Formats: sequence, C-alpha cells, structure tokens
Amino acid sequence: MKALKQNDVIYYNLYQALSNHVCPVCQCIAEATGRFLDNLMYEFVNDLRTRDRLRETKGFCREHSWALQRMGDPLGHSIIYADLIDSFLSTLDKKEVVAKRRKIPFAMSKGGECPVCLEEEEMENRYIYGLLASLKHEDFREKYRSSVGLCLPHFNLVSRQVSDKEVEALLHEVEINSLSKLSAELKEFIRKSDYRYARELPGEERDAWIRAVELWVGSLDLKKQSQSSFKNKEKS
Ligand SMILES: [Zn+2]
Ligand SMILES: [Zn+2]
Repeated sequence: MKALKQNDVIYYNLYQALSNHVCPVCQCIAEATGRFLDNLMYEFVNDLRTRDRLRETKGFCREHSWALQRMGDPLGHSIIYADLIDSFLSTLDKKEVVAKRRKIPFAMSKGGECPVCLEEEEMENRYIYGLLASLKHEDFREKYRSSVGLCLPHFNLVSRQVSDKEVEALLHEVEINSLSKLSAELKEFIRKSDYRYARELPGEERDAWIRAVELWVGSLDLKKQSQSSFKNKEKS
C-alpha cells in the first residue's frame, strides 16, 4: 500500500475530528500535542541532547508544565527538574542578585520559547492550511456542514487566510448555524432556571455553557488527552 503523505494524514485527522462536536483544529492539535509530550518525556530520560536543549529554554511554560505533570511519570519529572534546578543553582550568584535585585537569572523570556508552544504553533499552521485544502473536497465539505464548525480563534485565523469564495461561504454558513443553535440552547437553559419552569427536565442545553466556553476560546482537550494517554500507559 502506498504510504500516506503528510497532507493525507492531516485530511484524515481533520475528517475524523469533525464527528467530535468540538473545533476540529483544536482537537487535532490537542492529539498531536499529546503525542509530542509522550515522545518528549521518553527523550528526556534517554537523550542528553534533549535535556541540554530544555536547559536552554529553561523548561516549559506554565500551561505545558502542568499538562506534562498531569501525564504523570514521576521518574521523568525527577530527571528533568533535578537538571533544571541544578542548572539554576549553578547560575545563582547571591551577591550578584543582591546587587542587581531586578536581575532574574533563570527565567523563561516572556513570549516564550517553550518547546511545546513552538510545536503547537507549527501544528496550528499546518492544520489551518490543511483545513482550507480539505474544504475543497466535496465529501469533506459534506461532513463539515454537519459539524459544530470552528472555535472563534480558529475561525478568525481561517477567515484571514481563505481565498476561495465557495469555501468562505460554507465556513460562514456552518459557523452561523452552530452559534445560533448554541445561543438558543443557552437561552433555554436560562428559561428553565426560572422557578416557574423548574419542573421541566433538562435537555441538550444542560452543558451548553461548557460548549460556549469551548467555542469562544478554543477547546482544552489537551487536559483530557494527557490524562487518558497516561492511563493507557499505566495499563500497558
Ligand atoms: Zn479551535
Ligand atoms: Zn508552552
């Protein structure tokens, strides 16, 4: 069988993600980041060069430090942090710190060189580009039409890059349908919160408030992904 090209993999991943009722770009990035973190953890323990690189970037940003922590791996963390702490201690000259109180000898620069953030950014570009290419295929379009569309940050990114009028019209149509439906569900939730309607059973709108956050700022599926990938590791 012919090996899948990278673009085919992106098409396939996006197509599968369209069934999941979350932004497909968020979903694919979360999965890719989960795999990246898994590999990274393995490399830290086994590859000195990876650890050297991590010392240079002074660890990870806050979000990804905790994402890794949630994956578990006490030994991997002990190796990484013993390394980072020793490196910090060796640069920590107390006299110098007192003399230059504002000097922070071992802080990650703002804007971040976190290796996971850099990887996510690259993945995001690849998937935005991949989505626009995939939307030229009729079967993908059909599935996209029945999806929840994109989170707002990814909708904005895609809108900035789309040039095909037909694709642009479809992106707008799906986004308007999805957001209108969500708005109606939120209003239904508010209506049922009124004591006069308190006896009515909750319907699909019960988790609309969570989906609203998800669509507004993007999905935080990475957390679920990280936890489940650690659980799978524990079982094996
Ligand atoms: Zn998204
Ligand atoms: Zn990061």
